[in-house]
Amino acid sequence: MSTLDRESWLADLHRRVPELSPAQALGRQAQGALLIDVREDNERASGVPFGALGLSRGFLELRIESQEPDRSREILTLCGSGARSLFAAEALQRMGYRNVASVIGGFERWKSEGLPVSAVRMDTDSMERYARQLRLPQVGEAGQQRLSQASVALLGAGGLGAPAALYLAAAGVGRLTLIDDDRVERSNLHRQIIHADARVGMPKTESARMTLAALNPRVSVELHNERLCADNVERLLRGHDLVVDGADNFPARYLLAAATRRLNMPMVYGAVERFTGQVGVFDPRRNDSPCYRCLFPEPPDAADAPNCSEAGVLGVLPGIVGLLQATETLKLILGIGAPLVGRLLSFDALAMRFRETRLPRDPACPGCGPSATFTGYADVERICAAN
Ligand SMILES: [Zn+2]
Repeated sequence: MSTLDRESWLADLHRRVPELSPAQALGRQAQGALLIDVREDNERASGVPFGALGLSRGFLELRIESQEPDRSREILTLCGSGARSLFAAEALQRMGYRNVASVIGGFERWKSEGLPVSAVRMDTDSMERYARQLRLPQVGEAGQQRLSQASVALLGAGGLGAPAALYLAAAGVGRLTLIDDDRVERSNLHRQIIHADARVGMPKTESARMTLAALNPRVSVELHNERLCADNVERLLRGHDLVVDGADNFPARYLLAAATRRLNMPMVYGAVERFTGQVGVFDPRRNDSPCYRCLFPEPPDAADAPNCSEAGVLGVLPGIVGLLQATETLKLILGIGAPLVGRLLSFDALAMRFRETRLPRDPACPGCGPSATFTGYADVERICAAN
């Protein structure tokens, strides 16, 4: 078997692979051809030919079928100067793509001819990972960009926070902050499925991060192993776009209600008990939005408000409610649809019934009414302790 040196191999490829000028490639795109920039991610960081898909040479054969299953579509490959794109085009020919050409001179010539360049497009990992939601016109690349730049605080990595965090991470929300000072207990596992039996005893935040990182390593997860209190509530929430309320106690919820108003940040509320749950969105950025205290002006007596450990809960309930919260969160970030503002959604699992009640802003509300006064978070904590 004869060996080929670099020059004779390239000469052979030039004979077998059709080649186009950059200007011709631009024109072919308008006719439906797919232009693939096979340079490495770092090379593409300063820009790509207009309309090109970035797909590094090293991943080309592995990922082309999910990007373009149609073997008859015209595909044009481009690299830095026109050599690597020849190898790429040949590889595609071998995979059965029948209409492949390489762009002569690559990106260098593309630029020197003054052809249009666009800012770097989404990388191939994201194109694959989010493919099914990128197809939605309400999301698309611009929406995915918004998700990746969003930061969401989750109060609680338990029943509600766990399912919400999983789906928010999966959807590509760029930064998730988990606030929880509990450790995983075996009795949590029938509903808090972000945790695992082997992690009983571990801080919930740590355990949740392990699952989130395994699901989507690109999401940045920040942990606060603290109990929300008057002294830390603003510090922990500041800088986020919104907060998902998975609190399991009233002081935390009233603190959250006060802080989200002061920080002008939406609070996606959820609660569960036994076989029922409820969800709502309190968005202080909107004049017509009620706040949490329009719904519950004062905390109930402890006897009237048993928590999960006392009242019990069917394991799927927090899953359903947490996912409704995640849904509202994604809508708020993307700015799509009609959020649950001014409406309270209740769910009854035994009857399998959703019910919506109007929840207008209360002019006498101690949290957001005209006579409401804020005298500090310590006082907010005190109204709960008094009950
Ligand atoms: Zn209010």
